[in-house]
Amino acid sequence: MQNPGTDLFELQTRTRVVHGAGCSAGVGELARELGARRILLVTDAGIVAAGHAGKIETSLEAAGLSIAVFDRAKENPTTKCVDDCVTVARAAGIDTIIGLGGGSSMDTAKGCNFILTNGGRMQDYWGVGKATRPMLPFIAIPTTAGTGSEMQSAALIADEITHQKMACLDSKCAAAVAILDPILTLSQPPRVTACTGIDAIAHAVESAVATRRSELSQKLSREAFRLCFHGLPLVLDEPENIAARAQMQQGAAYAGAAIENSMLGAAHAAANPLTAHFDVAHGHAVGLMLPHVVRFNAADAAAHSIYEGLASEARMTVEQMADKMTGLLKLAGMTTRLSELGVERAALPMLAAEAAKQWTAGFNPRPVGEAEFVKLYQVAFD
Ligand SMILES: [Zn+2]
Repeated sequence: MQNPGTDLFELQTRTRVVHGAGCSAGVGELARELGARRILLVTDAGIVAAGHAGKIETSLEAAGLSIAVFDRAKENPTTKCVDDCVTVARAAGIDTIIGLGGGSSMDTAKGCNFILTNGGRMQDYWGVGKATRPMLPFIAIPTTAGTGSEMQSAALIADEITHQKMACLDSKCAAAVAILDPILTLSQPPRVTACTGIDAIAHAVESAVATRRSELSQKLSREAFRLCFHGLPLVLDEPENIAARAQMQQGAAYAGAAIENSMLGAAHAAANPLTAHFDVAHGHAVGLMLPHVVRFNAADAAAHSIYEGLASEARMTVEQMADKMTGLLKLAGMTTRLSELGVERAALPMLAAEAAKQWTAGFNPRPVGEAEFVKLYQVAFD
């Protein structure tokens, strides 16, 4: 809430952040400090193949901890994926959870933590603060620089049947420790670097103007924007540049913390139906809608002035910043029009109806309903 003259805000830091090249080798000691004895390591096959899971296991074993591995986390994890993970966790009698990978591994780990400690099914936790019992300590180790899930107390899980993405928010599911090791992000395929990096920029831009923004969240958004807007072209050009990778990872985490202290907006609301119905990658969908949402929101005086602050970090005007966002998609080799993604024009009203129902739409600085989303999709289509 805006309170003229006093700038009230809350600051609750739930997550200890450990950052630096090679720091993931210390995971065993960090887990022991949390009192861990039996660990569930949640990851995916690609991360195992890249050798990251093996290195984490080596550190955990050296600290005398036993490990059960669930390596079947999937993109846009579903309730079934979480249930499969819970089965492995229960059989192993674990007391601590590690999520190693992109947003999907971290979301699966958090989802598993909900069910393991509070019972029931994922649908029971859709919404805010539905869990009643404490959860197990959770360590987040991102291998992408994008989702910022390591800084957020939310699990995003899709219903296996309806594909509805459920945001389950609860402060108890926040990571106790986030380990940010830029070396782990070197193994990302170029397309993942691009998609997740663009998503991080969108998190910074949307959280900056969302109606729940505060003085603090705006500082996090702006720093995240500065780091990622400059960092993304660098990592696309020089994938092995550790300093640039670290910059992106830091920016993505700040953007995650900004969301935690603010919210998202219309670009994320418009992106979710594109992912659900046309299988467009989250970062691509968000990145494609973002410049149009920025131009739409810029008609709001307060949002415009915040955008000006962001754009000044790149010595640009708001319009130039919106153009540059499209330029970043092109630089990453991604299409910039919905018509090039297999989306049909006839589907736009259906997509708009779903976008208007997304939770994040309610925090956009300008009110957005079905009619506005149809217009946003139309400009993004042609
Ligand atoms: Zn996102």
